Amino acid sequence: PVRVRFAPSPTGNLHVGGARTALFNYLFARSKGGKFVLRIEDTDLERSTRESEEAVLRDLAWLGLDWDEGPGVGGDYGPYRQSERNSMYKQYAEKLLESGHVYRCFCSNEELEKMKEIAELKKLPPVYTGKWATATDEEVQEELAKGIPYTYRFRVPKEGSLKINDLIRGEVSWKLETLGDFVIMRSNGQPVYNFCVTVDDATMAISHVIRAEEHLPNTLRQALIYKALEFPMPFFAHVSLILAPDRSKLSKRHGATSVGQFREMGYLPQAMVNYLALLGWGDGTENEFFTIEQLVEKFSIGRVNKSGAIFDSTKLRWMNGQHLRALPFEELSKLIGERWKSTGLLTESEGPFIDEAVQLLKDGIDLVTDSDTALSNLLSYPLRVTLSSPEGKPIVEDKIPDVSASLLAAYDSGELLGALEEGHAGWQKWVKGFGKTLKRKGKSLFMPLRLLLTGKLHGPEMGSSVILIYKAGNHGVVAHQAG
Ligand code: GLU
Repeated sequence: PVRVRFAPSPTGNLHVGGARTALFNYLFARSKGGKFVLRIEDTDLERSTRESEEAVLRDLAWLGLDWDEGPGVGGDYGPYRQSERNSMYKQYAEKLLESGHVYRCFCSNEELEKMKEIAELKKLPPVYTGKWATATDEEVQEELAKGIPYTYRFRVPKEGSLKINDLIRGEVSWKLETLGDFVIMRSNGQPVYNFCVTVDDATMAISHVIRAEEHLPNTLRQALIYKALEFPMPFFAHVSLILAPDRSKLSKRHGATSVGQFREMGYLPQAMVNYLALLGWGDGTENEFFTIEQLVEKFSIGRVNKSGAIFDSTKLRWMNGQHLRALPFEELSKLIGERWKSTGLLTESEGPFIDEAVQLLKDGIDLVTDSDTALSNLLSYPLRVTLSSPEGKPIVEDKIPDVSASLLAAYDSGELLGALEEGHAGWQKWVKGFGKTLKRKGKSLFMPLRLLLTGKLHGPEMGSSVILIYKAGNHGVVAHQAG
C-alpha cells in the first residue's frame, strides 16, 4: 500500500517549498488511495518549538492538505513526533551495534579536529580515520571501564557505490569512498537526524519518500542504514528547488515566501494549492486551472519536472483572481462584503448593494484586498458633490461644455436621479434621450459622460457604475475620497 509522509522540522513557518512538498505527497497519496502521514521532526530540540509546530499544522490545514495519521489525528504507527520516539532509535542503534554495522567511537573532539586538519592538508576527503573502526573488544572494554564518552559510528563500505532509482531524477549513484563513517548517535545518547528519519520511515512503513532535492545527500546515508537494518528500501522522489525569478534560491529577500504571509495578504488556499502544483508539474496540456480534486485526479509523479521551478508571484496573483472569480457568487460577495465592512469602507450591511458592487468590480480584482481600492475608486466621485449646483461644478466643464451644462441641468431638475432610481432601464432610457438632445452618440457621448459622472476615462460598465455611485450616496455608504 502507498504510504507517504510530510516531515517538517518545526523550526519556523511553512514556506512555499515545504508546502509544495506536502502537496505532492498529498496528491500522490490521494491519487493512489494511499495514506498521507504527517511526522514532526523535532530532534533539534533547541530550534524546535511547539508554536512553530502549531503554525505548520494550521497552514497545512488551511491549504486543505488533511493528513490521515499524525499529530491531532493519531494512527497505528505513532508517536508522530521524533522527540517521542527515542526508545525506538535506541533499540535500532543497539541492533546495528550487535550486527557490527555500527561501532563505538571514543575519539575526542580534539582528535576528530586533528583528523580533519590533516585530511585538509593532504587534500583528502574528511573521512574518519581513527582507530575505533578496527579496535579490538579489549580496547573497547577498557575505554568503557574508564567511562570515556562515545558515539555510535556507522561503518561505511570503503569502496563500491550505491545507487537509487529516483522517480523524478532517474538513476542517482554515489561513490562510497568519500563518504566516511558517520555518527548516528551522539555521546549524550541523542540520535542523529539521518538515523531517525530512516528508522521512522521504515517503522512507519513509508512506501515513497517524496521530498526536496536538497535531501539527496541524506538519501545516501539513509539508504546505507536501510540496508544495514535489512529494511525494504522505499521509492525515492526528489523534487527540484523552487527558484526566484533571477534563478537564485528563493528566499525572504524576494518577498513573501511563507504560506501564512500569503494567507494574511488575502490569497485563497485553492489558488495557492493550484499554483504550488504547477511548480514543477503540469498535466501535459495548456490548462493551468485546477481544483484540488482535479489535481488528485491528474497528478502523477512521473510528470514532475527535474529542473528548478520559478516562483512567480505575479502569476500567483493572477491565479488567485481566477479562483476568486470561480467561487460561487454568493460566496465571493460574502467574502468581499465582509472585507468592506471590516475595513470600514461600508458602514452597514447593504446586501443588495454589495452584490451589485461585487458583480461590477469582480473582473478587476485578483485579491480580496484589491476590492477596497476598487470600491473606493468607484465611489470617490459622489454625484451630489460633483454635479449639484451651485456648490459643485463638473470638473471638466471647460472641455465638453455642452455635455456638462446639460448634465448639470439634468441633475438639478432631478431628472437624472429619477432615472437612476429606476435602475438600468431608467438609465438606458435617459442616456438615449440625453444623446439625442445633444446630437452625440457612441464614444463622443459616453466618454464625456463617463468622465463627468465617474471622474475617470475608464472603468467597469458605466450604467452599473453610475447606479452604484448614486445608491452609495443615497444609502450613506462611506467611501474614501480619492486624492
Ligand atoms: N525534516 C526535513 C525538513 O524539514 C524533511 C526530511 C525528509 O523529508 O526526509 O526539511
